[in-house]
Amino acid sequence: MPKSAERSSRTLVEASVAELSARAWRLIDGAQAVMADLDGCLAADNQPLPGAAEFVARVGARLVVASNNSTHTATELAALLASRGLSIAPRQFVLAGELAVGEVARQWPEARLMLLGSPAMRDAARAAGLRLVSGEPDVVLVARALQATVADLQDAVAALHHGARLVVANPDLSHPGENGLPRIETGALLTLLRAVLPGLPAQVVGKPEPTMFRAALAMTGADAGRAVMLGDNPTTDVAGARRIGMQTIRLRAAAAPEGPPNTP
Ligand SMILES: [Mg+2]
Repeated sequence: MPKSAERSSRTLVEASVAELSARAWRLIDGAQAVMADLDGCLAADNQPLPGAAEFVARVGARLVVASNNSTHTATELAALLASRGLSIAPRQFVLAGELAVGEVARQWPEARLMLLGSPAMRDAARAAGLRLVSGEPDVVLVARALQATVADLQDAVAALHHGARLVVANPDLSHPGENGLPRIETGALLTLLRAVLPGLPAQVVGKPEPTMFRAALAMTGADAGRAVMLGDNPTTDVAGARRIGMQTIRLRAAAAPEGPPNTP
């Protein structure tokens, strides 16, 4: 079979985790590691979707939830989902916000860090030993900063204009909220910064970048070729996982729009 056909055969398209085909289950049951997106796959607006609890129970310890969430810590998100009936251990999450904090701490442990993000992300940065500053940073980290003001964004523009590095937790412009309401995501802040500073370079950590998939694989010890990724977003979940050689299952029945990706 030509290589392109062989590659395209790696993506199964399925309705939802509640209605996986026997072929999909064979792939999942035979995988060393199973990565799953959260929003639109196992939950919507952090409310468990039908079939998610059964899926999580069947996959067991092989599961890693790989989410571009840059608001919560894994501990917070696990507790929130458990309170709504979906029990996944905090150690089974890789989240773009926490991962971005970890990447900054690993690459620039002494950096002065300007962090646009939730109180939980600021706590995570302090816990990682990073020094949070409001001016003259070496690194600007952008997460989903619902509390950020335009003045905060102006401070980030000034820092980046003067040469600070930019790290962005995820490139998503929006994620679907209740009743399909688009919620502003981290990538929309990147788009704003790039509107003011055209060509601004950024290190993006979340899906579809390989950093997140490699972190998820490292948690399980699995090779990419023995791992499968389930997700609803063809651009971030499917294309990102395939880029590093994982098998993929795309779920259709999600609130996330298909068509143009929700990434810049
Ligand atoms: Mg999704």
